[in-house]
Amino acid sequence: MSYLLIGFGIFFLIFSLLISIMIWMENKFLAGLKFFLLFLPLPLLFFLAGWYRFPYEEIIGILLISATVITGIIILFPSKTNKFQNRSIPVNRIDERDTMFSRKDLVPDTKHFREYYVRNPEKKAKDDLFRELPGLLKPGTIYYNRLAFAAANASFFTIEQLHSLVRGNKTNEVESVNKNQITRFLKTWAKKLGILDVGITELKEYHLYSVGGRNERYGMEVINSHKFAIALTVEMDYAMMSTSPLAPTVMESAQQYQNSGSIAIQIAQFIRNLGYSARAHIDANYELICPLVARDAGLGEIGRMGLLMTPGYGPRVRIAVVTTDLPLFIDPPTHDPSVLDFCTKCRKCAVICPGQAISFEKRKEINGVFRWQINSEACFTYWCKAGTDCGRCIAVCPFSHPNNLLHNLVRRGVNNSILFRNLAIKMDDVIYGKKPAPENSPDWM
Ligand code: SF4
Ligand code: SF4
Repeated sequence: MSYLLIGFGIFFLIFSLLISIMIWMENKFLAGLKFFLLFLPLPLLFFLAGWYRFPYEEIIGILLISATVITGIIILFPSKTNKFQNRSIPVNRIDERDTMFSRKDLVPDTKHFREYYVRNPEKKAKDDLFRELPGLLKPGTIYYNRLAFAAANASFFTIEQLHSLVRGNKTNEVESVNKNQITRFLKTWAKKLGILDVGITELKEYHLYSVGGRNERYGMEVINSHKFAIALTVEMDYAMMSTSPLAPTVMESAQQYQNSGSIAIQIAQFIRNLGYSARAHIDANYELICPLVARDAGLGEIGRMGLLMTPGYGPRVRIAVVTTDLPLFIDPPTHDPSVLDFCTKCRKCAVICPGQAISFEKRKEINGVFRWQINSEACFTYWCKAGTDCGRCIAVCPFSHPNNLLHNLVRRGVNNSILFRNLAIKMDDVIYGKKPAPENSPDWM
């Protein structure tokens, strides 16, 4: 019995050391140390029980091993939630002019400005609050950083140059295509170009804005008769996002808008070269709501912070979309209630949000859909103070951890078991902190 107990002790010691090293390798030394110290009593208990002689040692040894094995089985035993089974669809299309990105572009004393606030008088006072602040990527903001802001602006400038390429004429006559072959080619090639994940869905009315709200599309009805939408995600770097809301975060998000946008344009042009119509939807030039399309294309669920929660990277992604009439195989709808159950219990993003923009409550029915709605005015007003697009909610989300063995095992457990989910929420708070401080900017910055 004593050899068995010591064997268990060695197993748990190696296990806790390996996990701690994996966490240290993410540059989270304190978190790794916390995990090691938290776990240490378990191997110590087995070592003591195996080493020392005491009355009833056989019985106590058996009880100790049984309790550990039973606890493990209980935590890991598959148990699915029955809640969140239905995936509802929005009743009405959203007017892009109501989004913060459209409202921030309204210039006082212009026709659009006057018209908008005559139609929406209740929004005027809220919008005046952000207009009094320095603004996104502007000097005078809390996290102003001349080099980082210039770099982010360079990305946004590049994206603007790409806007003229989102549409284009077909360059060839249509030739019949093998749906299977073209779908496989397109998906594999997109990944070779740097795309993390690709999903294809039928384009639905509710994916599209009702009326455009940016630049020359302002006030124009959105008409898109394409049959399919290809959703593309790119990763935002973990280390850069961990600094949020500091300046590196806006550099990273701008860069990934640019990367996803340029690949979407390349794919749209590829489709036109095959003789089919295609339109890329990229930053500041969307006809549709990217997270909704990506959700329906099987790339994830929409979580508490209103963003797409992908299985391997959580909300730490940017999305671009290509709509087309090229015949493609659509991905079967996926639905992961475990993410919604996790979000219902977790609330970490709501606790940390510096703009107090994320709801602590349960999902509510909004526009025919059960969802969480963030207070977009409060979020954007904070961006105008901070100077960056903040992203603190993305950085602290337990699903945003790196896509490595450790976190993928945790993700598997979260998907598999309600008890594991509850434990993972607590452990994330204990190990990484309930309100973790932003990491420092990288040395080279
Ligand atoms: S931080 Fe928690 S509540 Fe917020 S989106 Fe992530 S999992 Fe959901
Ligand atoms: S980006 Fe920042 S302010 Fe906006 S919801 Fe996330 S944490 Fe809150």
